[in-house]
Amino acid sequence: MRSTRPDAGRVLVVEDEPALLRALQINLRARGYVVATAAAGSEALAEAAQRPPDAVLLDLGLPDTDGTEVIRQLRTWSQTPVIVLSGRTGSGDKISALDAGADDYVTKPFSMEELMARLRAALRREPLLAPGPEFTIGSCLVDLATHKVSRVAGSDGEPVHLTRTEWRILEILLRSEGQLVPASRLLAEVWGPAAVDSTHYLRFHMARLRRKLEEDPPRPRHLLTEPGMGYRYQP
Ligand code: CA
Repeated sequence: MRSTRPDAGRVLVVEDEPALLRALQINLRARGYVVATAAAGSEALAEAAQRPPDAVLLDLGLPDTDGTEVIRQLRTWSQTPVIVLSGRTGSGDKISALDAGADDYVTKPFSMEELMARLRAALRREPLLAPGPEFTIGSCLVDLATHKVSRVAGSDGEPVHLTRTEWRILEILLRSEGQLVPASRLLAEVWGPAAVDSTHYLRFHMARLRRKLEEDPPRPRHLLTEPGMGYRYQP
């Protein structure tokens, strides 16, 4: 049995700071990734179309276009995981990047180890699921087998799209129906063991899940917080 794969995956790095681009390239290659680079949004989209990457690391502040626009265009044809490298202090850009379809983000300056852990998590394959029951959250029907959210007959509303990160969190909660799931378990399963203290990731993504699925997001009835402990899916 082979312990390491010769090719851990193709990663497209989009970054206009030459020093950071170089550091990312060296670190990724050292871990067995095949690396493609782009220093601008148009170049990134052309490269992604020509040789579809297994994951994208994307700077938001690019010389020709906003990184968020790159995600939007990429998402019209590709579901490849995108991790945003955000150099901006406000959370607004991260939120619009996640809304556009990014899976995760790190804020500059970030630790290379942390970024690599996020990348591994993003590349981890979804386990194959046996067809299971649908779960109801407000007017949404969540099907874990097909990864689809539909609306209960008779209700209206926007179609719901969940990111890979959101699906992972939701899946763990739904499969533990009615039980408290400790925040540390969610963090370890979704982001890796190094992230067990990063409860702000979880708060951020839980708020997004509620906005997408709960009828009254500030007063959730199904995706509940147990303060200081974790989260619970209440059917
Ligand atoms: Ca930049």
